[in-house]
Amino acid sequence: MKINPFAPIKELQTALKEKKILRKELLEYCIARFKDYDHKIGSALEIFDKESILSRACAEGVLAGIPGIVKDVIAQKGRCLSCASKILEPFVSPYDATATARLKKDGALLIGRANLDEFAMGSSNETSAFYKVANPWDITRVSGGSSGGSAAAVAAGFVPWSLGSDTGGSVRLPAAFCGVVGIKPTYGLISRCGLVAYASSLDQIGIITRTIYDNALVMSAIAGHDLKDSTTCFVEKKDYTQKLDGSIKKGLRIGVIDNGLQVASMNPEIVAAIEEAVKVLEKLGATIKHFTLSAIEYSAATYFIISRAEAASNLARYDGVRYGMRVKSAESLTAMYEKTRYDGFGQEVRRRIMIGNYTLSVGHHAEFYGNAKKVQQMIRNELEQTFKEVDLLVMPTHSIPAFKFGTFDDNKLAMDLQDYFTCPANLAGIPAISIPCGFTKDTIPIGFQLIGPSLSEELLYQTAHAYEQQTPWHTMHPKKF
Ligand code: GLN
Repeated sequence: MKINPFAPIKELQTALKEKKILRKELLEYCIARFKDYDHKIGSALEIFDKESILSRACAEGVLAGIPGIVKDVIAQKGRCLSCASKILEPFVSPYDATATARLKKDGALLIGRANLDEFAMGSSNETSAFYKVANPWDITRVSGGSSGGSAAAVAAGFVPWSLGSDTGGSVRLPAAFCGVVGIKPTYGLISRCGLVAYASSLDQIGIITRTIYDNALVMSAIAGHDLKDSTTCFVEKKDYTQKLDGSIKKGLRIGVIDNGLQVASMNPEIVAAIEEAVKVLEKLGATIKHFTLSAIEYSAATYFIISRAEAASNLARYDGVRYGMRVKSAESLTAMYEKTRYDGFGQEVRRRIMIGNYTLSVGHHAEFYGNAKKVQQMIRNELEQTFKEVDLLVMPTHSIPAFKFGTFDDNKLAMDLQDYFTCPANLAGIPAISIPCGFTKDTIPIGFQLIGPSLSEELLYQTAHAYEQQTPWHTMHPKKF
C-alpha cells in the first residue's frame, strides 16, 4: 500500500492492523521522509537508527507502530538531550521522561529529537545552537517557536505526532504558524518528570498533531498522575477520544475576547479568519458572549519577569561540573564556571539569565518578581471569574502570520510580544489548544485558541473536533519544500 505522508494516526492504525503496511515499513518511510526533505526544514536534530527505535518500543498498545518525534528538552533514555544548546551537546539522558516512557509502553516509535529554540527560549526557532527551523508552507519563513521542529515535522508530513513543551506558548505558536493542532494542557496534567526545566511553574509538555482526534489519542497515552512529579494532578488515565462525535456539548457557552481581536497590531486576515471560526461554532449550537479581559494586557510583562527569574535559577545547574560540556582550560574554578557558561550558552539564553538574576537580586526582588506574582494572581482570578459565565474562550494564537527569518533581529520586544495571546493560559495554569482556521492570501496558516478552565481538556477536544469536522483546514498540506 502506498503510504500517505499526511495520513492521520487513525488511518495508520487501521492500515497496520489490517497488515496493509508493516510497522517496519511505516518506520522506514518516516525515516526516509526526514532524509529526503529535512535538509530544507531543519526540524530534527537527530533521527535514530531503525533497529534502536524498534528495540525500545513495545509491539502492542494503542499507538503500536506509530512514529513520532520528541522535542529535545524531553528525556529519552540513552539518547542525547541537548536542548539545542552547546552546553548539553555531549549529555546523554540516563532515563526516560514519564511522557516518553508512557508512549513507548503504548507502542509508539520515538524516532528522533526535534529541534527547538535553545532551552525553549524563543518564538521563532531562530536561536537553536545548531540550525534554524523553516516553515514547511514557505521555507523563507520561520516555523514559530520554541517547539518549531516538533510543529514543522508534523506539518511537513514526516511524522503524525510530536511532543513539544509550552511555557509561554511554545507548542501553540509554532502549531498555528505551521497549520497544525497544538495543545498546552492544564498545569500538572502531564508529568514534567524528564522535561528539562525552563520556568518550572509554567512549563508543560504539549502535543502537536494534524487532527484533533490524533491529539486526543496521544493525550490519552501520557496524561495523568505521576508519582515522580508531585505537581501532577490526581487524575486517572482516560480516553480523551470518547466524546469526539462531531457535536458540541448541549448549551455550550463561548466567550470571545474582544480586546484580543481589536488590538491595533492584529493582522486583519487573522481577525477575519477567527470571526469566521466563531460563526462556525455558533452554527454548531454554541451561545456566543463578548468579553473584555484586562488579564491579557498584563500577561506578557508578567510572563517576561517570571519566566526569566525561574530560568536564571533553573539554568544555574549548568556549571561545567554536573552536566554536559566543560571548557578545556581555565585558571581557576570560578573562571571555569564562567568560561563554560559563556561558551556553552547562546546569546539569548545568556541575556535571559542576566535579566532573571537582576529581577531576583536583593533590592529588586519585590519590585519585579514579587509584583509579577501578584499580577499573576489577578490574571488567574479574572479568568476564573470569566469561566463562571462561559465554558470556553476564543482568543487568537498569534497576531501576525509566520514571518521571514531575521524580521525581529533588532527588535527583541516585538519578538517577546509573540507570546501576547498564549502566555495568559500558562500564567493561569489552564489548558489551551490552537486549531487551524484558515490561511492568509499568501497561503500562510492561521490558528486560533480555545481556552478552558482547569482540566477541561475533554471539552476542548470535543468542541475543537466538532469545529474541525465543519472546516477543510486539516485536509490541507504544504505541497513542496
Ligand atoms: N516565546 C516564549 C519565550 O521565549 C515561550 C517559550 C516557551 O513556551 N517555551 O519564553
